[in-house]
Amino acid sequence: MPSYADFHRRSLQDRENFWAEQARLIDWQVPPQQACDNSKPPFARWFAGGTTNLCHNAVDRHLKDRAEQAALIYVSTETNQERVYSFRELHREVQKMAAVLASLGAGKGDRVLIYMPMIPEAVFAMLACARIGAIHSVVFGGFASVSLATRIEDAEPKVIVSADAGSRGGKVVPYKPLLDEAVRLSSYQPQAVLLVDRGLAPMEKVPGRDHDWATLADQHARSEVPCTWLDAADISYTIYTSGTTGRPKGVQRDVGGYAVALAASMKHIFLAKAGETYFSTSDIGWVVGHSYIVYGPLIAGMATILYEGLPVRPDAGIWWSLVEKYKVTSMFSAPTAVRVLKKQDPAFLKKYNLSSLKALFLAGEPLDEPTARWISDGLGVPVIDNYWQTESGWPILTIANGVEPQASKFGSPGLPMYGYDVRLVHESTGEELKEPGQKGVVVIAGPTPPGFMQTVWRDDGRYVDTYWKSIPGQEVYSTFDWGIRDADGYYYILGRTDDVINVAGHRLGTREIEESISSHPNVAEVAVVGVADALKGQVAMAFCVPRDASGLVDEAAKLKLEGEIMKVVDEQLGAVARPARVRFVTLLPKTRSGKLLRRAIQAVCEGRDAGDLTTIEDPSALQQIKDLLKPAGE
Ligand code: AMP
Repeated sequence: MPSYADFHRRSLQDRENFWAEQARLIDWQVPPQQACDNSKPPFARWFAGGTTNLCHNAVDRHLKDRAEQAALIYVSTETNQERVYSFRELHREVQKMAAVLASLGAGKGDRVLIYMPMIPEAVFAMLACARIGAIHSVVFGGFASVSLATRIEDAEPKVIVSADAGSRGGKVVPYKPLLDEAVRLSSYQPQAVLLVDRGLAPMEKVPGRDHDWATLADQHARSEVPCTWLDAADISYTIYTSGTTGRPKGVQRDVGGYAVALAASMKHIFLAKAGETYFSTSDIGWVVGHSYIVYGPLIAGMATILYEGLPVRPDAGIWWSLVEKYKVTSMFSAPTAVRVLKKQDPAFLKKYNLSSLKALFLAGEPLDEPTARWISDGLGVPVIDNYWQTESGWPILTIANGVEPQASKFGSPGLPMYGYDVRLVHESTGEELKEPGQKGVVVIAGPTPPGFMQTVWRDDGRYVDTYWKSIPGQEVYSTFDWGIRDADGYYYILGRTDDVINVAGHRLGTREIEESISSHPNVAEVAVVGVADALKGQVAMAFCVPRDASGLVDEAAKLKLEGEIMKVVDEQLGAVARPARVRFVTLLPKTRSGKLLRRAIQAVCEGRDAGDLTTIEDPSALQQIKDLLKPAGE
């Protein structure tokens, strides 16, 4: 067994051979002759010239050895449904969906936008796109019409796949009206909308545009749709993520590099074995859902659990009951979910037989030590933090216990993963920080590894300018996270360097929320900041300058306006983006050149020192916020 340090070194210094070996973990129709083409940095092209297909690797490839084994396990505690699809059944469903999408005009290179709750048809749609070479763009079902409209306009999908409704905590959340409103707002119009009718909410169909899944699926019940062989560097999907501007970026990923990266990560990081069961509690609308609900486990020949519901309903034992029932070996969740469970009766952790479980992986936000200890003691298995981003598609920092078992350290996601040349640099000089304990920006030197984003959809310039030009004098990829490294090479992540916030593991742009709030007629100006929260990691706080404050004479009037503003955000962006509080001030803290001092506001909200305020235009603005936050009576 090589040491992990050697493994990592080889991945960078003997890149071609290392990745050619990893490429053998998947099936190719034409094997690649070269691993990395880095002739046009920073655009690394992986395995170009090789041809393969993600759906073939996730489904068809397993028919030979495990056709009757479980592939997709669907559990909904919202609609009380439970269904296991074998690889053979999944193969059939995916072909049906592929035939239906093709009949609606979707083909290679066309975009298909998927706006769906956590139901099997969402997975069929993703795999069907991969099968026919259509580019899927899954939009989180919790987003509302304006968020969806921006994504429709950017992706220009030929077909949209959606459903009548989702359900959360037993409450039906209709999707169709939000979709109709989004299409109305969008300057781009899709050719067809395919709708899964779950019987949860009435739907009005637009004649000529809207199609019923069940009817078309019947017509294509026996259709056979072979996999389209794609170049490894072709596009598999785009997924939108927030940045510092109000406009989300379409993170674009390839086919072959992604398949290899996932297959390798399942083996080296996630301790996967074909025939076992993987349970990721994420949502298909996020990158974790793409990589570790759908593609990763299936490529590894594992059964994957698709769970629709809350972690505490019908009770806080629901996830552990699934671990027992389906003999889950690897589980993946987020720190917030564990903090939610921690508030419940700890007896739930002991109620079920969890002996199948090898490890719990947590990602998406910083993992605090008390949470890590609580769950690790409760489950009696290692808890493995992993740090990554929508952009990377798989972990950047963690422990590759499948290569060499190594100790985790509380508070640290771990070591740079193979393929990643991770460094720390000084934010303003760009100088590399080599000494332990120095704080800097976490960057990645190119070429980026397989599976990493190829570019921003239709905007190479934005990819280069946003990610590769932010560090002075260096062409390196910036993660926009602060970090430090200890003497053993373990990294610690200290939060974002930009205006992105992380609420319950969900990444949100403060600018997007500000733009939405500004559309309320009585909002003249607004600043949104992320504030530390014991449960969700961070929550959004909004400070508004009203156009007309004359009506805001008492607390009741302020609460009314606060409620109205929250409703605007709910309707436009979705409840995930709703600020925890909206407070009213007469002016916002800005520099003399008019730049919002978000960091100073955040510091004040968190009870920290506001830092250097020499550039502030009017210090009373910050004082107003301090006064607002004082507990009553002080
Ligand atoms: P997303 O693209 O939504 O996955 O968000 C990525 C961001 O979440 C990163 O840039 C970090 O700020 C944060 N993040 C993800 N995983 C971790 C982790 N394990 N520890 C600390 N922060 C994390």
